[in-house]
Amino acid sequence: MKIKGAVLREVNKPYTIEELELDAPKAGEVLIKYAYSGYCHSDLHLMLGEIPIALPLVAGHEGAGIVEDVGPGVTSVKKGDHVGVTWMIPCGVCPQCRKGLGNVCSGNFGNFLQGMLLDGTSRIRDKNGEMVRHGNFVSCFSNYSVVPELGVIPMPKEFPLEYAALMGCCVPTGWGTVVNTAKVQPGEGVAIWGLGGVGLNVLRACAMQHANPIFAIDLEESKEGLAKEFGATHFICNSKDDPVPIILKETGGVQMPDGNWMGGGVQYAFEAIGDPGAIVQAWWSTCIAGKVIVPGITPYDQTTNLPLMLLPLHQKSILGNLYGGISTHVDIPKFVNMAMKEDLKLDKLVTNKFKLEQINDVADKMNKRQIQGRWVMAWD
Ligand SMILES: [Zn+2]
Ligand SMILES: [Zn+2]
Repeated sequence: MKIKGAVLREVNKPYTIEELELDAPKAGEVLIKYAYSGYCHSDLHLMLGEIPIALPLVAGHEGAGIVEDVGPGVTSVKKGDHVGVTWMIPCGVCPQCRKGLGNVCSGNFGNFLQGMLLDGTSRIRDKNGEMVRHGNFVSCFSNYSVVPELGVIPMPKEFPLEYAALMGCCVPTGWGTVVNTAKVQPGEGVAIWGLGGVGLNVLRACAMQHANPIFAIDLEESKEGLAKEFGATHFICNSKDDPVPIILKETGGVQMPDGNWMGGGVQYAFEAIGDPGAIVQAWWSTCIAGKVIVPGITPYDQTTNLPLMLLPLHQKSILGNLYGGISTHVDIPKFVNMAMKEDLKLDKLVTNKFKLEQINDVADKMNKRQIQGRWVMAWD
């Protein structure tokens, strides 16, 4: 069938809007008509060549829509069902899966990196008949795609599809980081660097876990309103003020004769932007036995210099975190259920809707930090 999508052919070049050919779903695959696709910072990383990936590619890994058709043997969904998708498809048999760490499964990693479906092939071709790859099993920067049944999450029909799209990446990553990885308890102090799609969900999860205080930190002063709306007790504009002395002072630190602050600090510092300097600030801002947790993805050639004295003296740690440590088919439905009953502020998270033809403008705006919350592509 004919579809249209944004193809990334070369890094550091605009997406090209193309008509493409999509093959029918094979065994264990589902054809989805996308309704909404989120534009995540990881998509920008791919576009800028900051995460290695095989091209050409229909990217996009945060989408939701309606099942249009299913391949042989598919039993969990049928035509007309509302569904979300996930970019992590645990194989069930690799060492991580066997240890319950399906969020870092390595079994399907080769196909993930190569942009192939689970049988190692693609269903997408361009107008010259050349193969185009699937972005992260999802490829939702096209109006239709074929995805593995194992990556499809059924959604209740009463749950808006624009929110269902966010259940593919930013909501579970943010929430999972707080409730699975940190396990934030009421009254614990937290700080969050970077108020994009993931950071705002980290912030909202911390607020709903009754963390206190909650420092929200961003380079853009314009994000203060959204930060307070999501539950921050303090907002710090990182392009004006150094958050470290502010956090240490507010959390019971002591000012030393040289003017620096020691002691105090938050239990958990979440770095949700992937900036080496922010990771150092987060490190200084944690208390004794505090943890820096990093769901933010940093370009692959970036390094950081952590001052090491406090690693043993304050027993600090730094933890990487992928996809919030979730079990996709267990946790995503839980977050959906929560979103239908409680105020996750998803209505405030989606601040703009755009059309496929505007995708290069959206990427440019994100690169210039001009985007608030999550912008989603609307297909109709
Ligand atoms: Zn696995
Ligand atoms: Zn993402």
